[in-house]
Amino acid sequence: MSTFDFDLFVIGGGSGGVRAARMAAQRGARVALAETLGQDGLGGTCVNVGCIPKKLYSYAAHYHDGFEEARGYGWEQDSAPRLNWSTLKANRAKEISRLNGVYGNLLRGSGVTVFNGFARIDGEHAITLATLHADGSPGHQHFTAKNILIATGGTPHVPHFVGREHVITSNEIFDLEPFPQRLLVVGGGYIACEFASIFNGLGAQVTQLYRGEQILRGFDDEIRHFVAAEMLKSGVDLRLNAGVVDIQKTDEGLRVELEDGNVVMADAVLYATGRVPNVQGLGLDTVGVAQGGQNEVLVNAYYQTNVPSIYAVGDVTNRVQLTPVALGEAMVVVDQLFGPAAGKPPRDMSYDFIPTAVFTHPNIGTVGFSEAAAREQFGQVTIFRSEFKALKHTLSGSSERTLMKLVVDTATDRVVGLHMVGADAGEIVQGFAVALKAGATKAVFDSTIGIHPTAAEEFVTMREPTRN
Ligand code: FAD
Ligand code: NDP
Repeated sequence: MSTFDFDLFVIGGGSGGVRAARMAAQRGARVALAETLGQDGLGGTCVNVGCIPKKLYSYAAHYHDGFEEARGYGWEQDSAPRLNWSTLKANRAKEISRLNGVYGNLLRGSGVTVFNGFARIDGEHAITLATLHADGSPGHQHFTAKNILIATGGTPHVPHFVGREHVITSNEIFDLEPFPQRLLVVGGGYIACEFASIFNGLGAQVTQLYRGEQILRGFDDEIRHFVAAEMLKSGVDLRLNAGVVDIQKTDEGLRVELEDGNVVMADAVLYATGRVPNVQGLGLDTVGVAQGGQNEVLVNAYYQTNVPSIYAVGDVTNRVQLTPVALGEAMVVVDQLFGPAAGKPPRDMSYDFIPTAVFTHPNIGTVGFSEAAAREQFGQVTIFRSEFKALKHTLSGSSERTLMKLVVDTATDRVVGLHMVGADAGEIVQGFAVALKAGATKAVFDSTIGIHPTAAEEFVTMREPTRN
């Protein structure tokens, strides 16, 4: 019989933590999970202030175009539809609360002991949980565990400047009151681009500032330019090589002075300038868990830290900050500690060909190498590219265009990059990611029959190389 209170103590009830706790308990381990925010925090960033509410707001924003476009299909409306922001927020909150409940039930149903409170690591096998007593007074509980998993995620990072106290982050945007008629977004990554698109669609006047030459650094260059042009066309006032000097609160709203001397007046300023690992107060120094330059927890290939009983997965390790990646990493830890599921080999985690979508309007879907990265990796590459107006927009009146692109390693004919800007790009690219992971060649793409009439069929009908 183990002398520890638990076999595994998971800190953090987000994507990685919940998956690890649930799967470990299903393997028969005695598991505890602590979540600072309690039941309301179960599901973590993704469920509460990330993927899910963001996607719901993206759906809401798409209706704006949908109403307009319906006219071309014969639908007549007597008056322009209006967004009831309070209804959207309330319906979103209700759905998120339902999901928090589902996560709680899944955990408890698997036999996980769920604690509400902030967990601190006090030793290689020791955890202190700061909680509140029934009367509201603070209390502490001490536990021991054979293994500890850090799954505390990340938190938004806002640089220092005069007026910083007036800005919000993605954590606050979902419940903003009132609706920001004028929204300034700072940043050019996933979050900035998605919220610029979403609030533009919801009816706000959106200005987006990015400090560099083009948004979405790291994505394929053609995709970056194409989506930036589409966002501009749809009404986002995207300004490149731009930054904030200071922000002042005035009676007319927030007065934002820019580096080029211009002034933008805004009702809200969203800073989406990256996220940093959530490690404050976690006690990493006490036990000597090694951290990197961004304070991220350093782990080996099995997500084990330099302290053998302590593991870490997800955003706190500051690798690829995506929910499915945190889930995949959690499964590796569980297989490592408690053995794989019956009849299955232990899982491993590959960071090659991770598909991803940016829910801009239109969406980006991408998997594999950008053209530039592929040239560096493989030398000679062949590019297939197609740009067109989707069939839907022949009647809708929308000027939105779609871009699809294949990057092929010329020597082997393997498709090593697949990129799209267009409706449902994420849905389309998910399936193609399987083909790329399986090593499909361009010849395999060519021999695949298309589904007609779809946009996706273009990926298997591009015959003429655009360039070598
Ligand atoms: P988290 O989900 O952040 O969970 C960490 C949990 O730990 C939190 O609930 C926190 O309260 C808790 N915690 C922290 N410290 C302690 C402590 N000491 N004690 C107890 N509990 C603690 N990814 C996608 O794949 N697709 C998307 O569309 C997408 N959209 C996103 C949109 C936004 C606005 C944001 C911010 C992120 C988005 N992401 C998306 C990224 C995704 O949400 C994260 O990669 C994912 O949630 C990481 O999971 P995690 O388990 O590492 O951490
Ligand atoms: P990103 O790292 O994607 O982007 C940060 C942006 O802020 C970059 O454009 C960066 O510019 C800019 N920036 C950084 N520091 C400053 C500064 N001091 N002043 C001005 N600009 C600055 O982070 P996000 O916050 O957008 O998102 C965090 C992560 O969450 C993403 O990387 C992604 O992994 C995940 N996510 C995933 C989503 C999805 O799957 N659809 C959606 C949302 C988030 P530069 O490029 O020049 O460094």
